[in-house]
Amino acid sequence: MKYLFSIISLCLAFVCTAQQPYKRTLKLMGSRFDITVVAKNAIAGNRYIDTAVAEITRIEKLISSWDPTSQTSAVNRNAGIKPVKVDEELYQLIERAMGLSKLTDGAFDISYASMDRIWQFDGSMTKIPSAEEIRSSVSKVGFQNILLHKGESTVFLKEKGMKIGFGAIGKGYAADKAKALLISKGVTSGIINASGDMNTWGKQANGKEWKVAITNPMNKNKVFAVLPISNAAVVTSGDYEKFVSFNGTRYSHIIDPRTGYPSSGIVSVTVFAPKAELADALATSVFVMGKDAGLDRINQLPKVECIIIDDKGNIIKSKNIEINKL
Ligand code: ADP
Ligand code: MG
Repeated sequence: MKYLFSIISLCLAFVCTAQQPYKRTLKLMGSRFDITVVAKNAIAGNRYIDTAVAEITRIEKLISSWDPTSQTSAVNRNAGIKPVKVDEELYQLIERAMGLSKLTDGAFDISYASMDRIWQFDGSMTKIPSAEEIRSSVSKVGFQNILLHKGESTVFLKEKGMKIGFGAIGKGYAADKAKALLISKGVTSGIINASGDMNTWGKQANGKEWKVAITNPMNKNKVFAVLPISNAAVVTSGDYEKFVSFNGTRYSHIIDPRTGYPSSGIVSVTVFAPKAELADALATSVFVMGKDAGLDRINQLPKVECIIIDDKGNIIKSKNIEINKL
């Protein structure tokens, strides 16, 4: 009897402390998010996931250029009119985005967004924009014309018609913030997958490293490589998700801010970095910079690696990447 009791209490202790993964899939920031946390039971797991969802929703309300009530929309509405006071958090995000513009020689530019009036990737475009339309829209693009006033925490878009948008950095930022919040609440392990932008920490419940699958851009139903990743982010920008085609040419949803035309030559860029925000922004940037300049810049950055696949199917890797193809 005594033994039986000890066995039962041992089992109970095990059940109570055994860590399990809990996962939820939902739409946030206009994209599919899969949030996984490792927790001791379903109640705790669900509570943690609720916390992450609330955090991502809060950030979306602040930074979305689609939501007319967001501070970002207020900045856009006042382009060429007046500076707008914003929360410190948004101010700093814009400041970091401008730092990324400098780092990428202007390939990354949140003011690309005025171009989304003419390049639309929701199926509504019926013809390619005219050269004149592109010229006039691209004249509104330029991070140098985003004027920040630190003391006042204001943002002023200098030119009328200018617009900023966080399409290439927002999901990464939100994933970093949700991860940091969960870690501060004691969640030792998890993975936030924002439509393929992966941000992990800790290890799986079985003690193994999280593994990330990278889609083959030539065949999106096929996995191209599976890589272990711990406490880091992996982000893939591909032109296989959002693009338009005219006369047999594919135009990607990543716009070269210097020309106003969609970038070409690359079909997929995967970036590994300590933070999802950086990985997200750099994946978009390498698309614009092209494989040579893009690879060169990535190789200069510590703890950042990339895999580029060009439109001929060539695979180009940064210095410290080794992949075992499936
Ligand atoms: P996705 O969000 O589809 O995974 P990306 O992270 O590469 O892809 O971001 C692409 C989005 O970034 C575009 O849909 C657009 O909103 C925005 N964008 C396009 N070109 C640029 C650019 N040159 N700099 C900054 N943002 C851009
Ligand atoms: Mg990106």
